[in-house]
Amino acid sequence: TKFEALGLKKSILDAITDMGFENPSDVQEKAIPILLGDDTDLVALAQTGTGKTAAFGFPLIQKIDADSRTTQGLILSPTRELCLQITNEMQAYSKYEKNINVVAIYGGASITDQARQIKRGAQIIVATPGRMKDMMSRGLVDISKIDYCILDEADEMLNMGFFEDIKEILSDTPKEKSTWLFSATMPREVATIAKKFMRSPQEITV
Ligand code: AMP
Repeated sequence: TKFEALGLKKSILDAITDMGFENPSDVQEKAIPILLGDDTDLVALAQTGTGKTAAFGFPLIQKIDADSRTTQGLILSPTRELCLQITNEMQAYSKYEKNINVVAIYGGASITDQARQIKRGAQIIVATPGRMKDMMSRGLVDISKIDYCILDEADEMLNMGFFEDIKEILSDTPKEKSTWLFSATMPREVATIAKKFMRSPQEITV
């Protein structure tokens, strides 16, 4: 299939078949080969509904070391709804990868329950910035060893006033990691985040 030609592995291709995706969307066709290659930063200008979740989700699942319980990937997203939606999609993408745990961290729900899920070992965390910062300050989550940080709907997160939270969260991540930023638009604050926290990102527009 066309997904196979992008370099995705069998377990993900099987999940794609189950989901009924026949062909990669534009953003998937552009982003997936870049993200599956040597680790790099990426800025992708893409609207919602273009299939961007899979554009970063498939490569992230493929790059995670399922034999390690360490948190390796952090996805920041603006709202609880989006956070849960991304988590569900990531769980569907990784359904044939027995040992990958994806945990959602968002406000308005029990912090104790979320902390318990993290403690069991979450290779991938999908979080809203406010709750994420809260859990970091309480020592309930450790992102000091992540390899991949994804900023989804970066313009929306900044519109919602998460600029300071995002800066603090990113400051707690290792320098040696890859950052993938997805945004529908590129206002000044998004450009500032990209400039401060990313290293010569590749760029795609759909
Ligand atoms: P997103 O832009 O990531 O929110 O995705 C929008 C919707 O398109 C979601 O319901 C996805 O499950 C679906 N979708 C993503 N990629 C594909 C694809 N290649 N083929 C068909 N549907 C897709």
